[in-house]
Amino acid sequence: MAHADSGSTSWVVRADRLVDGTGGPVLEDPVVLVEDGRITAVHQGALPEGLPVPRARLLDLTGHTLLPGLTDAHVHLNLPADGSEFETWSREPDGVFVAAAAHGARTALDVGITTLRDVGSRGSTVFDLRRAADLGRGVAPRLLVSGHPLTITGGHGHPLGGEVDGEQDLRRAVRELNKAGADWIKVIGSGGGTKGTLVHRPAFTRAELTAIAEEAHRLELKVTTHTVCAESLEDAIAAGVDGIEHGLFLVDFEHQEYSPQVAEQLAAAGIPVTSTLVVGYDVVRSVDALDKPDQEQRIQRDRWERMLGDTLEQFAKMRALGIAFISGTDAGWRFTDFDSLPDELWLMTEGGMSGVEAIHASTGQAAEVLGFADEAGTVVPGLAADLVAVAGDPLADLRRLREPVMVMQAGRLHRHDHGAAPAWLPEDGDG
Ligand SMILES: [Zn+2]
Repeated sequence: MAHADSGSTSWVVRADRLVDGTGGPVLEDPVVLVEDGRITAVHQGALPEGLPVPRARLLDLTGHTLLPGLTDAHVHLNLPADGSEFETWSREPDGVFVAAAAHGARTALDVGITTLRDVGSRGSTVFDLRRAADLGRGVAPRLLVSGHPLTITGGHGHPLGGEVDGEQDLRRAVRELNKAGADWIKVIGSGGGTKGTLVHRPAFTRAELTAIAEEAHRLELKVTTHTVCAESLEDAIAAGVDGIEHGLFLVDFEHQEYSPQVAEQLAAAGIPVTSTLVVGYDVVRSVDALDKPDQEQRIQRDRWERMLGDTLEQFAKMRALGIAFISGTDAGWRFTDFDSLPDELWLMTEGGMSGVEAIHASTGQAAEVLGFADEAGTVVPGLAADLVAVAGDPLADLRRLREPVMVMQAGRLHRHDHGAAPAWLPEDGDG
C-alpha cells in the first residue's frame, strides 16, 4: 500500500529505441514494465491494453534511447581523479578515503553507471561505503569490491596497504580478503604507475601468482591481474587467473611491442580483458587544456598519446583473435573522473567496436564476466530495473551517454531531468 518508497513504484517506461545490453539488435518503440524494482516485461509499439501493473507511473521518454545501467569494471574510489600524485594523496587518513569514495560513487551513478568494480582501495574504506549504502545512508552504484590489491613489497599500488610476499602469506592474504567481504581478488602482476616499479617486468613469481589463483578459486573467488608487459601476461595466463586489467605490452614507460604469441595464448585461455583506454586520453586532454604547458608536461602528453595509439591498435588485433573486452576507466587514477565511462566506450568504438558492441562490453558482457548477469546488466524480464535514457540516438557518438536525462536504479528513480514529473496511470476500473 505504501507508495512513498519509489523503489516499490511500478513504472511503464516508453522510449524511441532500446539497446538492451545483450549485444542484439536495437528495438524500436520499446515499452518496459517495472514492478517492485524489477523488469517484468519488454513490449514493442503501443502501450499494452489495460494496465499491466497496479499503481504504475508513466515515464514517457519519447525522443530518447533506453539502455541498461552501465558498468565500470575498473575504478579506485579512494583516489581523487584530480591529477594528485598517488604517493602524496595516499597519506590522507581513512576518513578522507571513505568520503572520497562516496563522492566518486555518486558521480558515477549520476551518469548512469549502476555497477562499479573497485579494484584497489585501502583497508575497509570501500567495504564501509558499501555497508553504509546498504543501510540507506547515501546512494551508490552496485559495488563489487576487491579491497587492497595484493602486490610485492614495494610494488605498484603498495601505498594502499597490500604488500605480501611468498606463497604461504599470499594464501593467508586471500583468506583475509575473503573474510573482509571481497568479491574479487586484485593482483598486481607487473610494475605500474607507482614510483620505483618496473612496468616492463613481472612482479610476483609465477608460483606466487598460482598460489593466489588456487587459493581464491578454493574460496569461489575470482582473480583479476594488473599486467602491462608481455611476460606478466604469460605468467597470469599460466597461473589460471580469471581476468586481465590493462593488458599492455610495455617494454619501457613509453613503448610497446605487441606479442602475437602471448595474445594468442590469452585468446586460447578465454580470459577477458578490462580496457582502460581513457586514462591516457585524459592525461593528453588535461595538458591540452593548459595555456602554457611546461616541457615536462608536453613530454608526458606525447608519451601518453603514443601509448594510446599503440593500445588502440593492439585492442583491434586482440579483438580479432576473439579476446573479450569489458569496459573500465581506471577512474580515480591520474585525471580520470568517475563519469568518464562514456569516453571509454567512445574510445572502444575508435578501436573498431560498433556502438552496440561497446555498450554490450559495458552491460551484458560486463555482467557475465563480473558474475552478476542473473541480477542486472541487460533489459530482460526478471532482472533489476537499472535503466538509463539519453536524448536521441547515442550509438553515433557514445560520448552522449555523459548526459543522461534519466537514471533508474532497481526501480528507484535516481535522476529525471526530462519534462514533467511522471504521471500516475489510471488504475483498472478508475474509468
Ligand atoms: Zn587501476
